[in-house]
Amino acid sequence: MPAEIRDSLLRLLNATGPSGFETAAAAVWREIAGGFADRVWGDVNGNSFAEIGSEKTPTVMLAGHIDEIGLMVHHVDDEGFLWVQSVGGWDPQVLVGQRVEILTEAGTVAGVVGRKAIHLIRRDDSDKAVKLKDLWIDIGAADGDEARSRVAIGDVATIASATLELSAGLVAARSIDNRVGAAVVLEALRLAKEQGCEAHVVAVATVQEEIGYVAGGGARTGAYGLDPQLGIVVDVTHATDHPSVDRKEHGDIRIGAGPVLGRGAAINPVIFERLRAAAREREMNLQIQALPAMTGTDADAVRMSRAGVAAGLVSVPNRYMHSPNQLVSIDDVQQSAELIAAFLSELEPDVELLPL
Ligand SMILES: [Zn+2]
Repeated sequence: MPAEIRDSLLRLLNATGPSGFETAAAAVWREIAGGFADRVWGDVNGNSFAEIGSEKTPTVMLAGHIDEIGLMVHHVDDEGFLWVQSVGGWDPQVLVGQRVEILTEAGTVAGVVGRKAIHLIRRDDSDKAVKLKDLWIDIGAADGDEARSRVAIGDVATIASATLELSAGLVAARSIDNRVGAAVVLEALRLAKEQGCEAHVVAVATVQEEIGYVAGGGARTGAYGLDPQLGIVVDVTHATDHPSVDRKEHGDIRIGAGPVLGRGAAINPVIFERLRAAAREREMNLQIQALPAMTGTDADAVRMSRAGVAAGLVSVPNRYMHSPNQLVSIDDVQQSAELIAAFLSELEPDVELLPL
C-alpha cells in the first residue's frame, strides 16, 4: 500500500463518527477526496460524495459507510454517573473496563466504563453475561450537577483507543467497521481516475448504516439522489480464521486472503461475474461468500432504490467485528480498491446488467 493511502486509512480510522454524528470522519474523507476528485459535496443526511467523469455513462455508485457503533448518554444520575444506550449493535461484554471519549459541545470528555468489581458480584451472578443496563460511564464528576455541566443528554461516545499496527500489515482499531469501506471506495475512485476510467463514478461515504436496518440509512437516500445504473458496496465481513468459530456454519473467510465477493439473491449476477473475471485476469486474491438472502449491508438499500439498482458487494475480512480491536489486513484493503478499479476500467457505456 502506498504511504499516502496508508496515511489516509489511519487518519480515517482515528476520526470519530458514531451513527448520526459522522461529521468529524466525513470531514477527513471529504478533505482527502478534494485532493483528486472533480467535485466533492454532501447531502442533508450527512452523506459525502466524490465524483469523476460526470458527463460519462453509466453512473456507478461506490458506497462505503463511514459511521461506526457508539454509545449515547440518556441519563445522568444525581451521583454523577452516566447511563447510556447503544448506537448500533454492541456485545456489552467488550465494553467492560474500556475507556471512552464523549463528544460534547465543548470538546471531548474522558470517561471509563464502570462495573461492580468481581469481589462484589454474587457468585451465582458472576457467570451471567453483562447487560448494557448494568454498566455506567464514570467521568470523575463529584455529583449530578457537575456531570450535567460537562455532558448533555444525547451526547455520543466512542471507545478511546489508538489504531494499532500489528505484525504482517495487520491493523487493529475500533472503527474498522466500516471506516475501511469508506477508505476503499475513495482509493478505488482515485485509481479509476488515474487509470482513465470511462464511466461516471461517484464514491459515497454513507451515514447511519449501523442503525439503518432495513431502511438502509444514508445509502438509501444517497442512491435515490444519484440514480446510478449500478452500485458497488464495500463493507467488512466476518473473518472466520480464529479460534471457536465453526466454518461449517459460517464459511471460510481469511484475513490476508484478499477481498471477499458476495454472491446471492441481492447481488446482481453480471456485476458478480465481472468482478470475479477482473480478479482472475489479474491473478488477484479473491474469496467468495454465499449470501442467500439479504446482505445486511448498504447493498440491500442500494439495490432497492427506485426501480432497482444492480448491486455488487466487496467485503474486507475483519476479525472481532463490533469490538474495540477489530482487525484487518492492509493488503486486503488495498486489493479491494484495486479490484473495483479494475472492474471500472472494463465498463462500457451501455453495459447490460439484466440477469440472464
Ligand atoms: Zn457493523
